[in-house]
Amino acid sequence: MTPLAALLSRRIAATGPITLADYMAECLLHPEHGYYVTRDPLGSAGDFTTAPEISQMFGELVGLALAQAWLDQGAPAPFALAELGPGRGTLMADILRATARVPGFIDAADIHLVEASPVLRAAQAGTIAPHSATWHPAVTALPDLPLFAVANEFFDALPIRQFVRRGRGWTERQVGLVPDPSGARVLGFGLGVATPLGGLARRLEDTADGDIVETCAPGESIMRRIASGVATRGGAALIVDYGGWRSRGDTFQAVGGHAPVDPFAAPGTADLTAHVDFEALAGAAARAGAAASPMVPQGVFLERLGITARAQRLARDLAGPALEAHVAAHRRLTHPDEMGSLFKCLAITPAAAPPFPGTIT
Ligand code: SAH
Repeated sequence: MTPLAALLSRRIAATGPITLADYMAECLLHPEHGYYVTRDPLGSAGDFTTAPEISQMFGELVGLALAQAWLDQGAPAPFALAELGPGRGTLMADILRATARVPGFIDAADIHLVEASPVLRAAQAGTIAPHSATWHPAVTALPDLPLFAVANEFFDALPIRQFVRRGRGWTERQVGLVPDPSGARVLGFGLGVATPLGGLARRLEDTADGDIVETCAPGESIMRRIASGVATRGGAALIVDYGGWRSRGDTFQAVGGHAPVDPFAAPGTADLTAHVDFEALAGAAARAGAAASPMVPQGVFLERLGITARAQRLARDLAGPALEAHVAAHRRLTHPDEMGSLFKCLAITPAAAPPFPGTIT
C-alpha cells in the first residue's frame, strides 16, 4: 500500500467516503505524496508525453498566434505572458524563441507561470533560462495586466466529480472502502444516495437512466478568472486539451508508464485525468464577459496556423532517423487518428477584439 493509500483509507474509515474530486486532488497534489509534487511525469521515461514535447512546431505556432493576437490588440506594453501548468517549460521556451523576432513582444512580456509542483517549477526555470519568470500557485495571483495566456493539458488534470442518473435524480460516484476478493477493504468506487441537483437540471434533457455526467468546478472558476482579466484588461487565452463540446460518460482515467492503470491501485503514483468539457469552459468565459471562439480540433488549428509549411522548412535540414522522427511528430500532432481530432483548441478574447488566429476559417 502506498503511503497515500494508507492515509486516505484511514481518513475514509474515520469520516466516510470522499468525492472523486477530493481523491484526484489528493493523488495529484498532496503536499508530500502527490503525483505532480514528487516527480517530472513527462517524456519517454515518464508516464505520458505532450504536444510541446513531441515537436518544437507546436510551441512555435502557438507563440506566433499569441503574438498576432497581441499585435491585433495594439501591442499593449507591458503585458502578462502566462502559462498554466507549464510541465517542463518546453512550450514557454518555444514560444519565447519563436516570438523573439516579433518587434517589441518579448520586451513587453512579463512572464508568469502557474504551477503547483516544486519539482516542475525547478525544471521550468532551467528550460526558459536566460528568461526569468514569476511563479504562482494559482491563477488568482496573476497581475492586473493585459493577459496573453496558454494552457496545454492543464484543465484535464483538474479534479472532477461524477454523477450517475437515477430517474430525475443523481447519485454521486464517491471513493470509499470496498471489499476486494479476499475480503479486505480497499479504495474503490461506491454510490451515494440519489437526489435532484439544480446544477445538472439541463442534463436531464440529453441523458438517460444510468448515464454518467462529469463536472469540473475548479476548471470553470479558473476560466472565469482568466476570462474576466481578458475582458477587462485585454489579451487572449488559448486552451488546448483532450475532450469535447459536452461531458458525456465516464472519462476518468489513470495513466502510468504510457499505459492505462487502475486508478485506485497505487494512489500518488499515476496521473489521473478526465476529458475537458469545452462547453462548460466557453460558458464560464462568456459569463465573465469574454468571447469564446468555436472549438477547433488541434489538427485543423495547427494546419490553419501553417504547420505544414513549417514542417517542410525544418525537414530541409534533416535526414535519416531525424527526418523520420520529424515526419512522425508532424503526423502525431495533426492526424485525426493521433492527436489531431481528440485534442481541441478554444480561444478566449475580448468581445470587441479580432478572432484568435486559427480559430475561424
Ligand atoms: N503543459 C505541459 C504539462 C502538462 S502536465 C505540457 O504540455 O507539456 C500538467 C501540468 O499542470 C503540470 O505542470 C502540473 O504540475 C500542473 N498542474 C496540475 N494541476 C495543477 C493545479 N491545480 N495548479 C497548478 N498547476 C497544476
